[in-house]
Amino acid sequence: MWKRLTRSGGLDPSIDAQTLSVLEKRFNSQNQESWYYEKDVEGWFCSYKPLTTKHFVLLVKSNDPDKLIEKDYLQFLFHFYCHQLQMLQGTYRDALTGLYNRRAFNEKLAHLLDRSENQQRRAITFSPTIFVMLDIDNFKRINDSKGHLFGDEVLLLMAQQLSDSFRENDLLFRYGGEEFAMVLMDIEPEQAQLTLDRFRKKIAGYKFPSIDQVTVSIGYTLFDQRLSMDQLIAQADTALYHCKGTTRNAVHSYHGLVDKGLIPVLKESKIPQVEIS
Ligand code: GH3
Ligand code: MG
Ligand code: MG
Repeated sequence: MWKRLTRSGGLDPSIDAQTLSVLEKRFNSQNQESWYYEKDVEGWFCSYKPLTTKHFVLLVKSNDPDKLIEKDYLQFLFHFYCHQLQMLQGTYRDALTGLYNRRAFNEKLAHLLDRSENQQRRAITFSPTIFVMLDIDNFKRINDSKGHLFGDEVLLLMAQQLSDSFRENDLLFRYGGEEFAMVLMDIEPEQAQLTLDRFRKKIAGYKFPSIDQVTVSIGYTLFDQRLSMDQLIAQADTALYHCKGTTRNAVHSYHGLVDKGLIPVLKESKIPQVEIS
């Protein structure tokens, strides 16, 4: 659902004060990237900025201070930009769950792992800290016993629970089938373990329609920007598959399992030497 949010034209009353202050702070930041902008639309300068995963701002500036901005014209611009954005979003969202899709995953992760000079200069507002892989346990059984449509319903509800349980700045992806990936921003590893375990318990206690219980297995690792995308995925996946091979319905970290000697250090995950210049 798109909410109209303009600086001069008033704010959507359903946006609470706390969200508003976060939006204002980010809006004022000079480091925001514009996704789409068009210069001089009939004397107006417009830019569209993503503020969070759920909020965007349409900035309309007049180059003539005497010119009044017509409400209808603003509305037209707003619809126009929303349409543009929705088309753009369509390519990056999974049709069933509305989460980011695999294409978005590849592009966003490549972007977050890009250590080029160009990238370094860009201010990343939130630092990726934890990379998570989550897989629904015995999902095939749900499909087999209740039918594919029930399976789809579980995926949809799972995505809703994920969106409700993690923060706006965290990135949530449907990685494939009944597997989800997440990038948690600015969180202490101990806190991440607690948060992920709380989510695991929440799902185990959630009443999915016509299904006794659905559980998830979760593996995670530190989002170390020195790793390649494959290495990052392999670490979280190894922790996830440790859950699958033991108890399921559990949360394990790659480093925790290595420290306990329960899994070997992944050979290919040797961290490359950082060049000192
Ligand atoms: P495990 O606990 O080891 O993960 O077992 P599992 O049954 O969850 O895993 P498995 O890989 O054996 O089965 C995954 C199933 O997910 C098989 C596939 O048909 C189903 N699936 C994949 N995508 C979709 C989808 O979009 N909708 C539905 N309903 N099912 C899907
Ligand atoms: Mg599964
Ligand atoms: Mg799976």
